[in-house]
Amino acid sequence: MKHKCVIFDLDGTIYFGNQLAHQANAVIERAREISNYMFFVTNNSAKTREFIWHKLVNMGIDVRKEELITSSYAIAKYLKENHFNEIYCVGTDSLKKEIELLNINIHSRHPQAVVVGYNPDFKLSDLDELSNIDLSNYKLIVANKERNYPKENGYIVPGAGPIVAATEYLLDRKADVIIGKPNVEMLRIMVANLNMQPAEICVIGDSYNSDIKMALDYGAKGYLITNEKRQDCPCITKLADLLEIWK
Ligand SMILES: [Mg+2]
Repeated sequence: MKHKCVIFDLDGTIYFGNQLAHQANAVIERAREISNYMFFVTNNSAKTREFIWHKLVNMGIDVRKEELITSSYAIAKYLKENHFNEIYCVGTDSLKKEIELLNINIHSRHPQAVVVGYNPDFKLSDLDELSNIDLSNYKLIVANKERNYPKENGYIVPGAGPIVAATEYLLDRKADVIIGKPNVEMLRIMVANLNMQPAEICVIGDSYNSDIKMALDYGAKGYLITNEKRQDCPCITKLADLLEIWK
């Protein structure tokens, strides 16, 4: 075994929008041969784990639902593990559904936490209730602070960060917890109970600031997909280069 656990980022690594990366399936197959565990991770907090799992399966990728971690799922797990049972949620119906699956009330008028996720259809009135409920004792928990997201053909749209910024300004408070990458919480949720050392984990992603920073902060190894040259982590120019490295 080369690694005990291999973790792939999804967007920009395994697929680009609706298009699979070149030789993605061959790389995933090889990763299964050279590791004991494999996971796929995305900061997407607008979709359920179920939705992204179906997307992967429809693209022909052989993956189990348990091998997939989204920041919406990570938020739900974090809330449950930390006994936040009464919350108020600003986000998509998918994020709300993921949280409600763990029997957490997402419409509390006296929330222990306000949760903010990405929503491409966000509008200012989504924050109306926050000025009208009891916020005397709560934590502000957010999916991530990414400024923008690349879409097909190089078009760029606002990310979760601007929604978090609007909420922080309204509440006059900075986020207490950021769940998504590069927070090691995402990684911890994956490998909890698997009994492995950080150095036995290898993360592959196209973002230094989210994928690789998470890996390095945890003590894991990271391969960055990039055309840049960096000294602080091994770099590859495309996913398929791993076939050569893992020969
Ligand atoms: Mg990515």
